Amino acid sequence: MQCLSASSRTDLIVKPRLFRHLLLFLLLALLVLGCGYIGYHLSAHAGIRALAENGERQLELNARAVESEITKYTYLPSLLELEGNVTRLLLAPTAYRRHHVNRYLQGLNERSGSLAIYVLDPEGRVVATSNWEAADSYLGEDLSFRPYYQDAIVGRPGRFYGIGSTIGEPGYYLAHGLRHADRIIGVAVVKVRLDSLEARWQRAHLEAYISDENGIIILASDPRVRLKSVRPLDAETRERLARSLQYHWAVLDELQLLNRSPLSEGIEQVSFATADLPADYLLQTRRLEDTPWHLTLLSPLAEQRSAAMSHGMLAGVATALLAFLLIAWNERRKVIATRLAAREALQAANDELERKIAERTADLQASNQRLQAEVREREQAETTLRLAQDELVQAGKLAVIGQMSTSIAHELNQPLAALRTLSGNAVRFLQRGALDVASSNLQTINELVDRMGKITASLRAFARRTGDSGEASLIQAVDAALLLLHPRLQRTSLTIHREFSETRLGIEQIRLEQILVNLISNALDAMRDQEDRQLWLNGAPETDSYRMEVRDNGPGIAPDARSHLFEPFFTTKPGEQGLGLGLTLSASLAAAAGGSLGVRHPEEGGTAFILTLPYPREPQS
Ligand code: ADP
Repeated sequence: MQCLSASSRTDLIVKPRLFRHLLLFLLLALLVLGCGYIGYHLSAHAGIRALAENGERQLELNARAVESEITKYTYLPSLLELEGNVTRLLLAPTAYRRHHVNRYLQGLNERSGSLAIYVLDPEGRVVATSNWEAADSYLGEDLSFRPYYQDAIVGRPGRFYGIGSTIGEPGYYLAHGLRHADRIIGVAVVKVRLDSLEARWQRAHLEAYISDENGIIILASDPRVRLKSVRPLDAETRERLARSLQYHWAVLDELQLLNRSPLSEGIEQVSFATADLPADYLLQTRRLEDTPWHLTLLSPLAEQRSAAMSHGMLAGVATALLAFLLIAWNERRKVIATRLAAREALQAANDELERKIAERTADLQASNQRLQAEVREREQAETTLRLAQDELVQAGKLAVIGQMSTSIAHELNQPLAALRTLSGNAVRFLQRGALDVASSNLQTINELVDRMGKITASLRAFARRTGDSGEASLIQAVDAALLLLHPRLQRTSLTIHREFSETRLGIEQIRLEQILVNLISNALDAMRDQEDRQLWLNGAPETDSYRMEVRDNGPGIAPDARSHLFEPFFTTKPGEQGLGLGLTLSASLAAAAGGSLGVRHPEEGGTAFILTLPYPREPQS
């Protein structure tokens, strides 16, 4: 259960972050799409504007070209008014005159490059024509139904685009009422072809068409749209046009334009419904001067569209790049901020640590000062103790001497008595002249005096005050101690096991002797009441000290007395025999030299005192 709740908590922490990232990603995608769309829109807008400006120029240029093409012929029909033969033919037609005018019109037509030039009588019948020799000549044809005739006969300039009724050839008709003596006696007509305009547009890759007053496309760069209507035709108009045969028998379908959206005056965006035409165009229309016609220019929008698409995509990519740069910059800023915060935290921790160290240092200094004061006190106490110890040593030594005084006196009395006897005998042997015996007596006397001198010298040395430092010979110290105890040893049977070798020790010679005297005399005291007395003096070198064991086979020490051995004035000896200072003094002498004195209670019985002493210090160079 705990595990489940822990994982769901983690989910809760992870989800908002995931959600935030998802939201950020969506926003980013929206931003990229938005910028892409704006880029596309702006580019398309600018592209259309540029296209429209260019189209405007093209339209103007082509309109001028069309106008000049048309006006080039406008004067031609009126010229015939000046020709007397034409007037005469109209006033009094004869075969000769007709022939003459026919030839004249033929020549004029060839020179001007028009399709045909002909003259109608007031009834609308062709009286002379440039194509009089052709099989499909207009001669004698009744064209009174043609609007250009109807206009010209009443004095208006006849302008008409239509498909010829004879051979179905399209052309532009310009008609002029021929006057004579203030009345119109006939009509001169020039038919011109305008399809050179179409060829010119095709060469220039222009999509253009001209629609006439009925909204019918009469000229077009694309033949597929020719004779289509640019606006819907009602049934009446359709019938009227069919009857006039203006467009011969053409069906006059409507040019299907979809999605017409006007952009400004004369400019609109359109799409063709026809599948084989490019879809979208910019359509610009302008009225042609002196005609009821309109010139329309179609500029395909596909190129602009793809350019706008590229620009849109570029804008999207640029936005995405910028967004990623911003995100990267933001992430870097965050990392730097985290690092700065971590550095500040570290600095704060450092400051805190330094403050604590300063506090602790102050505490330590205070306790150091306290310790130094304590050390000084201890040193003082130590000095006092040492003085007291010296006093004690001295007192102890005097006590030992006191204890030994009886036996010393006995020791000295014996040689003294011997001396008295020997010296008396020596005197007697000298008087008898027994010099050899006297000399041997004197020799013995000499030895005895030496021995007595040694005893007193060792006593004096034992009683002397000594210092902490010095160096001792182990063998010398053992010998001196045994010599000092000689009187007692003489009286008792004792086996001494000497198991040590000569070693130099870092203690004053006399002090070592004092310790050994104490330990050996205690052993002797302990073994007093037994027959078999054994004393082991065992030495063993250790790493930086020497271990000397003084062991006896006495009764050992009672358990309740063991913990008090080294206490001053602790003794089990009766009366004046014991002072209880021997072990205390020995231990303090060993400690003063840097060693120690301990005790061991061997299982086989007896007591062993262990004296550990350092080796002498190397002389300082
Ligand atoms: P003292 O010899 O004047 O009594 P010490 O300090 O030398 O003072 O000895 C204290 C006591 O330790 C002695 O009274 C004795 O009971 C005990 N003791 C010392 N050495 C031995 C030993 N080798 N065997 C048994 N007891 C001992």
